[in-house]
Amino acid sequence: MAIQKTKRDFPLDMIRNIGIIAHIDAGKTTTTERILFYTGKTYKIGNIDEGTTVTDWMDQERERGITIVSAAITAFWTVKSGLFAGHEMRINIIDTPGHVDFTAEVERSLRVLDGAVIVLDSSSGVQSQTETVWRQANKYSVPLIAFSNKMDVVGADFMATIQSARDRLGANAIAYNLPIGKENDFKGVVDLLTEKAIIWEGDETGAKFHETDIPTNMAEEIKVAREKLVEEISGTDDVLMEKYLGGEAITITELKEALRKAVIANKIVPVFAGSSLRNKGVQSMLDAVVEYLPSPQDIGSITGINSKTGESEDRKTDPGEPLAALAFKIQVDPHVGKLTYIRVYSGTLKSGSYVYNSTKQVTERVGRLLLMHANDREEIDEAYAGEIVAAVGLKDTVTGNSLCDQNTAIILESISFPDPVISLAIEPKTKSDQEKLGFALQRLSEEDPTFRVKSDAETGQTIIAGMGELQLEILVDRMKREFKLEANVGQPQVAYKETITKLAEGEGKYIRQTGGRGQYGHCLLRIEPLPRGQGREFVSAIVGGAIPREFIGPIEKGVIEKEDTGILAGYPVTDIKVTVYDGSFHDVDSSEIAFKIAASLGLSEAAKKADMILLEPIMKVEVTTPEEFLGEIIGDLSSKRAQILSSETKGNARVVIALIPLAEMHGYATAIRSMSQGRATYYMEADHYEPVPSNITQKIIESSGFTGRVEH
Ligand code: GDP
Repeated sequence: MAIQKTKRDFPLDMIRNIGIIAHIDAGKTTTTERILFYTGKTYKIGNIDEGTTVTDWMDQERERGITIVSAAITAFWTVKSGLFAGHEMRINIIDTPGHVDFTAEVERSLRVLDGAVIVLDSSSGVQSQTETVWRQANKYSVPLIAFSNKMDVVGADFMATIQSARDRLGANAIAYNLPIGKENDFKGVVDLLTEKAIIWEGDETGAKFHETDIPTNMAEEIKVAREKLVEEISGTDDVLMEKYLGGEAITITELKEALRKAVIANKIVPVFAGSSLRNKGVQSMLDAVVEYLPSPQDIGSITGINSKTGESEDRKTDPGEPLAALAFKIQVDPHVGKLTYIRVYSGTLKSGSYVYNSTKQVTERVGRLLLMHANDREEIDEAYAGEIVAAVGLKDTVTGNSLCDQNTAIILESISFPDPVISLAIEPKTKSDQEKLGFALQRLSEEDPTFRVKSDAETGQTIIAGMGELQLEILVDRMKREFKLEANVGQPQVAYKETITKLAEGEGKYIRQTGGRGQYGHCLLRIEPLPRGQGREFVSAIVGGAIPREFIGPIEKGVIEKEDTGILAGYPVTDIKVTVYDGSFHDVDSSEIAFKIAASLGLSEAAKKADMILLEPIMKVEVTTPEEFLGEIIGDLSSKRAQILSSETKGNARVVIALIPLAEMHGYATAIRSMSQGRATYYMEADHYEPVPSNITQKIIESSGFTGRVEH
């Protein structure tokens, strides 16, 4: 784990900042592992089944065999031929988590990538999480290449996988190479542009491979596929199109250059065949990462908001420009302490310097700067525009904050995170640990913005909330390990929301005359439903000074507090517009607190007349099961208020997709195991919120024990 100081001099176009994204179990971890092996930064190949991979360095990840933390790893790869022949390239791999509870982490890492490899399972094609990560990648216009992994498994079908990417993702996916053999006979690939075969001799890591002539029995298949690839590439470039139509020869270099442009412009997704487990095809895919995915230079510039003018502003990917950088991940490293992963977009970040956090408006000192390799780290003095680096020593900076120079302050687009769908109460086993609990939760929520902490206004309990049971379980586990804190946790609770269904008005009065100075707050509020997902709005329609301006802020505060606490059953109120339209005040007795309380009372009164309902999170659930258990699984789903969207045959399995309220999914992992002798699997993610049926609403309200009384 030696820290060495080296001088690096990497031209920007020799850098690739990439991520590997996939549906769970498609082979993202294994593929990352192989990449790290071939790029020479890991000595012993890890095997996910034995829990020794490099990217999964946290204990829990090893135990669970899933990747949670998006560590950024710097690796080096020398390309043998093609556009970048002979150059040693620097590839920064931003590991993206595979489990859906951590979708926000995937989004966060996509935000700072320049390109990504989407790993598909050749035996199942596109799966539901593939669609999710695809949508997320599209949101940030991340250029993609696809790796059709697991060509060695029974039922592997390269062309069907490409077709499913075209059908289900609407991607212009097209074969770049063709597999030679499949299932147990998968041996290598044919590069369609060079028309050369690459054969791996054996399955083990580091198996030798050699280039040879194409298998004669594949000649026709290759001709058709090459023609299609050339046609598709030519279609993206006017000059090549003319040559193509005129029957003129197009050189391989011309095709590669045009394909590079097309991939960067999200016009083509070239697909590569391989098997990470059997160590085949990975090197070809790595060559393609360099040849076809963009360098930071290709990205050009980033847009942010100038802190002084409020206007949008572009910053060039240039080390000589003023600094603009984004903190995208906080991680506690067992050796170095708190690490802040930073993407530098513009300018130069120097170790030991002071930077301005424009999101929080504080100045921070950067301690050391580190490049994280798979199993060691390298200390550097400067990180340039386009680079990804880990900083030690930043105290206040959290995920999503912008770092820059104070006199050229800029705020880069912040990252948006979904609302949590599940929560649970937590308390330390020993009372004296209460403070420690607060500290630990604060630290953990700094690392993970989808993880929220609040205290229940009625009971005073500490509540933690997140995107899934697994996420919360892991966080509780981390508290035990990293903070040596034992906690009691309650049953996971669904994060319902409250909303109103019609317009209503309410009056809030808080008047106390008790000798000396009294209290006087009085306001009239109108509430209206907003479209689903719109959140909250507050407006003041006070004219003519019915309420002095300085009390409008406190009224808004009172409204927000009440909305947070809930009115019907103790859940936050959403999709509501509140207008304060009238009121009165007293010259002496009026105070901020009196108006705050009046607002809270006014909102309660209005809400009671507005036919409140509860909303519940609806999950999109995908179950994959052998045919024989289908009947029982569908029967069970139907008893869970499920709306079955589709049921398809895939290879020898059935895939059922359904929308199901989260409230019905508690304990499903165990249930599905026992229904299918452990052979069916499922995957779910939050889809949207919907009204809870009224008979169930009543039960929820009763069991919530919510009284609506909050002491002021
Ligand atoms: P992730 O969830 O996407 O990170 O997937 P993993 O890399 O953990 O792989 C899931 C499972 O598939 C593991 O048991 C791997 O050993 C296995 N696997 C990964 N790649 C391949 C492959 O190319 N062929 C075969 N047969 N199995 C693979």
